[in-house]
Amino acid sequence: MTDSASRPRWAIVVHGGAGVIERARLKPAQEQAYREALAQVAQAGAGVLEAGGSALDAIETSVRLLEDDPLFNAGLGAVFTAEGRNELDAAIMDGATLGAGAVAGVTRTRHPISLARAVMERSGHVMLIGEGAEAFARHDGQEAAGPGAFFTERRWRSLVNFLTAEGLPIPAKPQATRDNPKAELAHDEGKHGTVGVVALDMAGHVAAGTSTGGVTGKRWGRVGDSPVIGAGTYASDRACAVSATGAGEYFIRLGVAQAICALVELKGLSLQAAVDEVVQDRLTALGGDGGVIAVAPDGQMAWSFNTSGMYRARIAEGRPLEVGVYKDDV
Ligand code: ASP
Repeated sequence: MTDSASRPRWAIVVHGGAGVIERARLKPAQEQAYREALAQVAQAGAGVLEAGGSALDAIETSVRLLEDDPLFNAGLGAVFTAEGRNELDAAIMDGATLGAGAVAGVTRTRHPISLARAVMERSGHVMLIGEGAEAFARHDGQEAAGPGAFFTERRWRSLVNFLTAEGLPIPAKPQATRDNPKAELAHDEGKHGTVGVVALDMAGHVAAGTSTGGVTGKRWGRVGDSPVIGAGTYASDRACAVSATGAGEYFIRLGVAQAICALVELKGLSLQAAVDEVVQDRLTALGGDGGVIAVAPDGQMAWSFNTSGMYRARIAEGRPLEVGVYKDDV
């Protein structure tokens, strides 16, 4: 028996995006749908860890569920580019080896997080983009997504509203689309969102994974922070594992995820102090909004966000599941 009350052997933290998430704006059915989804995803990852599975396996399992859930801006339910496409970004990092894999601008692979893991494990590279990433995905046997596979009416409406407000042309609606009714419960928390998971396994290793559709109306091959190792995703057993969500342009410039790990490793900050310093102080001072989740090899779990809400959940050995949506939740 370990002293799991003070030091859990496994832990997992999940996020489903940060933004304008306020009690007055969410209908009870929406809030309930988010809470249920987050709880399910955290518990699925916890099941992997509890059975002795690796942090990487727990992350892949949990992120795939989030990618399949139209409530979240990743995989099915991803936001649209100004050209009316879903261009997906994802990354995964192994804190034990500093191995990392990332993909950007993916359009035809059902689970970008699994493709990112394949990049890490089998490509000999760290980051693949666009058509090259798709070619590697087919070569590797990753599940392909047909035309319209990520489409939801809900996100299409957000695109039309965004382009109308910006005075930009509205592209033709993608053909061969079938809507997913659950997507109607998706809340518009601004124009972005992302999913991410960090985990500690019983071997003492941490890992991080992030997957996103990016921001509504993005143009010109824009890539956010999520697949940029050190910005939206980072993991090192010497410090911690971090996954971010928010206005990617700011997270890239601050190297948010790596900065948090550096504060833990080099300055000896507690995990909560480190995430707060980078999010509440540095990110806020630069004018960026969003949040992070983090876990450390000693079982510390933390989150921090400067928006009104962040979809989040955490659970560890001997600790109850906690689910949060609004700032004052947990
Ligand atoms: N960080 C993501 C991006 O900039 C979006 C988000 O998390 O809201 O692509």
